[in-house]
Amino acid sequence: MKVKLLRYTTDGELLCGAAALTSTRSGSPSDILEKMDPDTAKRIIRRVTGYGHVSVIEHASFTFSIEGVSRAMTHQLVRHRIASFTQQSQRYVTYDTLEKYVTPPSVADKTEAKRIFDETLERISETYKELLKLEIPKEDARFILPNAAKTNIIVTMNARELRHFFNLRCCVRAQWEIREVATEMLKRVKKVVPTLFENAGPSCVKLGYCPEGKMKPSECNVAETKKRFRGL
Ligand SMILES: Cc1cc2nc3c(=O)[nH]c(=O)nc-3n(C[C@H](O)[C@H](O)[C@H](O)COP(=O)(O)OP(=O)(O)OC[C@H]3O[C@@H](n4cnc5c(N)ncnc54)[C@H](O)[C@@H]3O)c2cc1C
Repeated sequence: MKVKLLRYTTDGELLCGAAALTSTRSGSPSDILEKMDPDTAKRIIRRVTGYGHVSVIEHASFTFSIEGVSRAMTHQLVRHRIASFTQQSQRYVTYDTLEKYVTPPSVADKTEAKRIFDETLERISETYKELLKLEIPKEDARFILPNAAKTNIIVTMNARELRHFFNLRCCVRAQWEIREVATEMLKRVKKVVPTLFENAGPSCVKLGYCPEGKMKPSECNVAETKKRFRGL
């Protein structure tokens, strides 16, 4: 899996700071932006988002390339509606080798599980190729492909949606692959525009509560989550 931050609003802090001041100043947004300095922008963003007026950070957007992930992961990712997606199409890509599938670590770690997993994928690949030989179009041959099928996707989200996404998907209860993707995305945006992502991360660590309520130790490992996100 690879997560790359392709493009982002490089002056996102200045822009969002200017957006926040636009509501209370008589000057035009362009004048406010021109006069905005980094320290004022940081202070204003912290104050305004602290009030819950988070819409001001929607002006900063971020585009990621997410590569070599499973369709199981992207199916969850695309449930986030305040985002734009473009995904590699199974009508064009051929799934003919084991490299075209993602193996979960829980399977990779157990020899017997890995053996039956690979055997099944090989069988699926063979059947898929046979269907293509019979001139079944890829768009129909793909009906036998599993959730493990590898894919690439490009995603654009604004800072507000990203923060919401991190609350939900950095959580230890989120599925491991989307959690890894979300954590990598968080690391990258924090590096480039930290003020917009202060306190971004799983709700239990960053907001101090779990929206899903109290969990049994078997259901959630808060200590592990805290350790993972300390300093992030
Ligand atoms: C741990 C976990 C387990 C999950 N399990 C399941 C499952 O078993 N089955 C399943 O189907 N899904 C499941 N989901 C997916 C989940 O239900 C959401 O679809 C997904 O997380 C997207 O979140 P969202 O709707 O808050 O946000 P987004 O689509 O990212 O939207 C952001 C916010 O915008 C607002 N918004 C967006 N669209 C609308 C709208 N149409 N109307 C009103 N407000 C809107 C909401 O405030 C929303 O929170 C799971 C998610 C997690 C994190």
